[in-house]
Order: sequence, then structure tokens, then C-alpha cells
Amino acid sequence: MCPYPRPDGIVKALFAGQVREDLLLPYPTLDPRQAAKVDSLVASFNEMASRLVDPRAIDRTEAIPDAVRQAMAEMGLFGLTIPEQYGGLGLGIGAYARVIEAITHVCPALMLLLGAHLSIGLKGLLLYGSDEQKARYLPRLATGEAIAAFALTEPQAGSDAQSIQSVAVRDGTGWRLNGSKIWISNGDIASMVTVFARTPEVDSKDPLTAFLLEPSFAGYSVGPHAQKMGLRGNNATVLRFNDVRIPAENVLGEPGQGFRVAVHVLNSGRLGLAASCTGTMKHCLELAVKWAKERKAFGSSIAEYELMQRKVAQMAVDILVTESMAQVATGLAEKGLDYEVEAAIAKVYASEAMWKTADELVQMAGGRGYVGPFPYERILRDARVERIFEGTNEILRLFIVEQGGKPLARYLRDVSKTPQGMLEWSLSRLSHLGAASLVSLGQSGLSELGRVFAETAGSLHRATADTLRREGKKLAQRQVQVARLADMAMDAYGMAAVLSRLQSLAGNAASLEAAKLIAEPYFGQAKARFESNRRGLRHNDDPAWVKVSRLAYEREGYPLT
Ligand SMILES: Cc1cc2nc3c(=O)[nH]c(=O)nc-3n(C[C@H](O)[C@H](O)[C@H](O)COP(=O)(O)OP(=O)(O)OC[C@H]3O[C@@H](n4cnc5c(N)ncnc54)[C@H](O)[C@@H]3O)c2cc1C
Repeated sequence: MCPYPRPDGIVKALFAGQVREDLLLPYPTLDPRQAAKVDSLVASFNEMASRLVDPRAIDRTEAIPDAVRQAMAEMGLFGLTIPEQYGGLGLGIGAYARVIEAITHVCPALMLLLGAHLSIGLKGLLLYGSDEQKARYLPRLATGEAIAAFALTEPQAGSDAQSIQSVAVRDGTGWRLNGSKIWISNGDIASMVTVFARTPEVDSKDPLTAFLLEPSFAGYSVGPHAQKMGLRGNNATVLRFNDVRIPAENVLGEPGQGFRVAVHVLNSGRLGLAASCTGTMKHCLELAVKWAKERKAFGSSIAEYELMQRKVAQMAVDILVTESMAQVATGLAEKGLDYEVEAAIAKVYASEAMWKTADELVQMAGGRGYVGPFPYERILRDARVERIFEGTNEILRLFIVEQGGKPLARYLRDVSKTPQGMLEWSLSRLSHLGAASLVSLGQSGLSELGRVFAETAGSLHRATADTLRREGKKLAQRQVQVARLADMAMDAYGMAAVLSRLQSLAGNAASLEAAKLIAEPYFGQAKARFESNRRGLRHNDDPAWVKVSRLAYEREGYPLT
């Protein structure tokens, strides 16, 4: 008898046919101490920004003024998530997400400065550092006197991080490192860099080890930095290591644990990215509404035209979904629960919704959207990279299904070994689909939305199980099918997160009414998209598209003369 899986993550459970209401409810909120601190930090930041931050000048000069960095340091922002014992503010990831959203709303380049420092640069030290390493580095990092960076990507390997070529070999009691990194955010100003390298001498399945490096180490050099499309206030820099001698005490975690460190850091980094996208989207919506009301065409303000209204409404819908997805995932992380798939979904959805929002803002602004000195084209440029870094959205779609579907896939593999197992599966399937009833989410006048979600959740489970059984191991090669499942999971999780959010507003009639108004079109849109993907799993012309791509590869471009 194979026990039916009861996965710990919301999306893993959805794939397995269960709605983990215990993980979805209540909707996460900050405790009063953290909420008060966040409010005061955001107010101080906004006041400072109104005096000192000019995003256009930062973009043009490709530099963040020292006065801005200094002011951020004085507010304690560089130590936001560093424990108080090391001089930080000791706030959690939920508080960090709210602050990063507010900062991005004003200036995305400042988000990258802070995010590369806190969210990825020193996160490994917080998670895996020894007490001695923390005591050595964190106090200066907390004050902003020292800045951190995270260095994984290399010219030959980005997504395929296990194939990086930088190599560290044992040298006496320490290590000797050779290699290089590219596009390291904060790389030019960092005093402590979390660097990943191959360590072939270490007997471990994990080919990498993480090290804490300082630019003062002999053989370490920085630059040049890349010419970037956006986020120009922050440099993406080359780092080179030429026989860099690393003391043994600068290994982060254990030797042969580096890939694990990187994955853990990036999982958490994606929560910050999703929150930052919400900040940009809120800014876009405000600009869109202001402009639509001001601009006259054909005798009316363009706000009166339905095609403009649809763009504005879609922005509001996408903000609600992005914010809810990100906050539910962040709530899981804060409680120490499994959040890796939810964070990946939040990052993918948020970065694509932000791109669409920024693009529609440019469209609404007409010619002004494309030229300076208006802010629109810069917002679009700043937004683009979020679909690329901290896991490209293609890789993350594969990850969502591979990790999210793992408990179900394992179970199916085990039961398929015997006819008795298959019978068990058929019976358990009936009972587990029944679990998607969403009793509590159906209360508070949300029963229709709860019903749509329950149907969607059940359908996700059935479609995934059928696809896994039909395709077996070949599924990994059918990436478009995998992406369909990932998109279906995104819609199911999006509905769940929005329902959780709506339920949290039950005591506030005005907010609940507004949130329902925004949520209803989302459910219609998500359901239609979900159904289209579900049908695509069975009926598609994927092989025809592969043939077209082969033709283009063969002819090295457009196949017809
Ligand atoms: C502005 C900026 C800042 C950055 N900051 C940092 C930083 O601070 N630290 C750091 O370490 N890195 C940083 N990066 C690097 C970034 O994380 C990588 O660019 C990203 O991970 C993608 O790697 P790549 O560029 O090598 O693309 P590749 O991995 O070469 O991917 C190219 C394309 O192929 C696709 N692809 C790859 N493998 C597969 C597959 N198996 N199936 C289907 N499609 C696939 C990808 O989705 C992508 O579309 C930064 C990059 C930029 C642009």
C-alpha cells in the first residue's frame, strides 16, 4: 500500500489534488511591531526620496548619488533583515518585501542596490554562515559601510549553474580560486561577495562550494561593467579571480554544499523580486490614470475610451494577483514552511505582469511613451530584466512542474508498479479530488469564486496526473507541455492566493467590495487561460512548431527566399 502524498507546499498539494487551507489561511500580515517599523521606514524613505532621488538622473548618469546611499544607510535599510545582535533592524522577509515594494515604486535602481545586498548578497551568510563569520561581516554590512554581492553567473553558464567553470582547489589549509564572473550586481562596490566555484576535490554530489570573498584578497579584480538596457544606476560587473587565496574560515556552509546554498538564496530572492514588481506596477497604474485623465483626443479625455479603460483595469487586476501571490508565498517563508514553488510562481507571474503593465503604460502615453524626458520608456527598460535574472522564466516554469509535481509523480510511479497499486490510485483519486471543496474560502460571499477555484484545482490535479502517466519520463523533453502545466498551476495558485486575500477583508465591507470587483474578471480570465492550456495538453500542434524551428535553424534564418 502506497500512502497518498500530503505535500507541504500549497502548489505541491494542488498538483496532488489537495487544497491546503491550513497553509492558505489566514492571509499573512505583519505583526504590529514590524508593521509600525515598516510604515516609519517607508515614510522616511519617501521623504528622503522627494528631496534627493531623481530616477531620471540616476538612469542618465548611471550612478546612485552618495547622498542617497548615505541616507538609506542612516535609515538602517542596509541592515533591514540582519539580526539586531549584529546591528541590523531584525525584520523578517515580509517586512523586507513591503519596504522593497515602496523603494521600487520610487526608483528601481535603488531596489537593485538593496536587493543585491540583502536579498542575495548576504542571504547565504544569514542562512549558512557560522557565528564567527556573521560576527566578522554582518555589523559593517548592517550599517551600509560594507555592501554585499552574489556571484554565480559566468560567461559560459547562467541558468545551468552546475556547469560553472570557476574552480577552487585546496591550498594548504585554505583554497586557491581561479575563474571569472559576469554581470554581478553591486560587484563594483561590494566588500563581501558570496562566490560559487567548482570544487572537484570534494567528495560530494553537489559540485559547488560557496566562499565569502573580499576584494582585498590578492588576485581578485573587478570590471569592466556591462552597458545595460535598464536599472542603470547599478553596475553589473565582471569579477576575475587569479590564484586568489581563500582562508579556510571563508568557506560558507560545508565544502560541496554550494549549489544548495545558491538555490536556497535564490528561492528567497524571488520573493523580493515579486514584491518589487508590485511596486513598479502600482507606479505604472498611477501614471496611467493621471495621464488618461489629462490627455484629450477627439473631444474627450482618453480615460473615457473603453480600450484605455481595459488597460487600466487589467493593471489593477494584475496588481491584486501579483501582490496576493507574493504575500502568500512570503507568509510561508516567514513561517519556515515550504515556499520554493510559490516563490517561483510569484516571480514568473510578477515579472510578466509588470512587463505587460509597463508596455501598456507606454502605449497609453502614445509618442510620449517612447521618448524622453517622460518616465515611461525608462520604466519599461528597468522592468525587462526581471524576466531574466534570478532564474529565467523558462527555467522557472520547468522548475514549477518538476518540483511542484514531484510528490504526485513519485506516488504515481510507485502505484503503477502493481495492478493493486493502480486500483488504490483510482480509489484514492476519487477521495482526494473531493478534498478540493474549499469550505472556508466559500464563506464571506465568495462562494462563486471558491467554486471556480475548486473546479480549477481538481482539474489541475487530473490533468497533471494524466499527463504524467501518458508522457512518463518523456515529459521532460516536452517543454511546451510542461509550460502549459506550469501556467495552469500559476492560475490555480493565483486564484487561491486572491481568495485568501479576499477572505482576510471579510470585516471591511468597502475593501472587500473593491477587491471582489477586481477579482471577478481575474477569475474569468484565469479560468479561460487555464482551460485553453488544459485542452492544449491533449490537442496541440507542438510537433509542427518544432519543425518550423528546425527549418529556421537549418536555413539560419527565415526559410523562404
Ligand atoms: C542586469 C543583470 C544583473 C544580474 N545580476 C546578477 C548577480 O548579481 N549575480 C549573478 O550571479 N548573476 C547575475 N545576473 C545573471 C543572470 O542571473 C543570468 O543572466 C540569468 O541567470 C540567465 O543566465 P544566462 O544569461 O547565462 O542565460 P542562459 O542560461 O544562457 O539562457 C539563455 C536562454 O536560454 C534559455 N534556456 C536555458 N536553458 C534552458 C533549458 N534547459 N530549457 C529551455 N530554455 C533554456 C533561457 O531561459 C534563456 O532564455 C545578472 C544579469 C543581468 C542582466
